[in-house]
Amino acid sequence: MTDSAPAPDLPALSLAQAIGCLSAYDPQALPVGDACRVIARMLHPVQATEQVAIRAALGRVLADDVMSPIDVPAHDNSAMDGYAVCHADLLPDAPTRLRVAGVALAGRPFGPAPQAGDAVRVMTGAVMPEGTDTVVVQEVTRIEDDSVIVPPGQLAGQNRRLRGEDLRTGTPALERGRIVRPADLGLLASLGIAEVSVRRRLRVAFFSTGDELRSVGEPLAHGQVYDSNRYTLFGMLSRLDVELIDMGVVRDDPNALETAMRTAAGCADAIVSSGGVSVGEADFTREIMARLGDVAFWTVAMRPGRPLAFGRIGEAFYFGLPGNPVAVMITFYFFARAALLRLMGAAPAPQLFTRARSLEAMRKKPGRTEYQRAIVEPGADGELTVRTTGSQGSGVLRSMSRANCVVVLHHEQASVPIGGWVDCLLFDGLV
Ligand code: AMP
Ligand code: MG
Repeated sequence: MTDSAPAPDLPALSLAQAIGCLSAYDPQALPVGDACRVIARMLHPVQATEQVAIRAALGRVLADDVMSPIDVPAHDNSAMDGYAVCHADLLPDAPTRLRVAGVALAGRPFGPAPQAGDAVRVMTGAVMPEGTDTVVVQEVTRIEDDSVIVPPGQLAGQNRRLRGEDLRTGTPALERGRIVRPADLGLLASLGIAEVSVRRRLRVAFFSTGDELRSVGEPLAHGQVYDSNRYTLFGMLSRLDVELIDMGVVRDDPNALETAMRTAAGCADAIVSSGGVSVGEADFTREIMARLGDVAFWTVAMRPGRPLAFGRIGEAFYFGLPGNPVAVMITFYFFARAALLRLMGAAPAPQLFTRARSLEAMRKKPGRTEYQRAIVEPGADGELTVRTTGSQGSGVLRSMSRANCVVVLHHEQASVPIGGWVDCLLFDGLV
């Protein structure tokens, strides 16, 4: 592993500097877009890289552009099973009879060059025999003795793949910042590349806060609840292929919280906590954070969600998510996820919404962003429809578990009538 200094184009900004990019700033009513902008400005990605075998690169972030060391395909070759011919030998308006000189298979070229006026039987992927430029598919041909009869109307160059048509030597096959996907593994293999350079894995520490929380396996006393946030966070973080540091449940106690924050900041690039940032609880959290780092406490104009803390503790970026089980997932998906991808060195990607017709009316006031847990599916006419999954209370985790998407009602958007179009973010796209 090699560590290098942060890239000069990515200066570390203080929170105040990052907030300075906004034309207006009210921490008690911060639009979602503004919170995302401040977060994005402050982050800078991990710089260390490591060289890994391509299979181990799946889900990792490419540290450099990968240049093609070869032309792909490496030779002109046949795209179909049929006969390779020289187009100039074909009669324009009558069948042409050509002697079949032999066969070329994928991986077994025909040689030496066929004589002028000969055809060569070719299979898909076979190198085009010297002097031929066109492939006639076998279905339209007829064999007579050792000759093939080719009907008129063949186009010059048809059914032939040209050398370098997919990729030319020295051009980028994959760009830095890309998260390696299955097709990319195949592409790298097709270029004969065995290893690539990827950014080191991001280390993310996470914990839950709350005196009422018990861990799975412990008995519940009156008023206590099981800690579910550490499980949803584990799931969402695992999908990002980060290194996880599970710090358990931290009690609502200043010393315990301070110790947890110091420990996390000492070993992680990012810290994600749930609970303890709402108005009633934020006071002692605020006081500790002010001592340990540079952290803002926001009320974001959103539902569910609202309380959110963000900033830096030492070298680590801190995301203080609300405690409600749905709110923690929504704030993770809409703030922390994109931020962590950025820290991993991934190129920013636009949020891709799917448009669907709402089967129900949705009440909404402009001035905040709302997220409705919902199920999107095709209607009878094939058009996508969407309906919510019952009670939208921010503690109702089942509404999230049954959903396959969230409907995003944007900041300026007003109520949606039955049949109105809405933007949905599909969970299946959230790798
Ligand atoms: P807080 O943001 O800490 O005020 O928590 C808001 C609500 O979410 C309270 O009802 C908490 O009991 C609940 N809550 C907080 N953390 C968790 C957790 N880790 N698992 C389940 N529920 C939680
Ligand atoms: Mg709490």
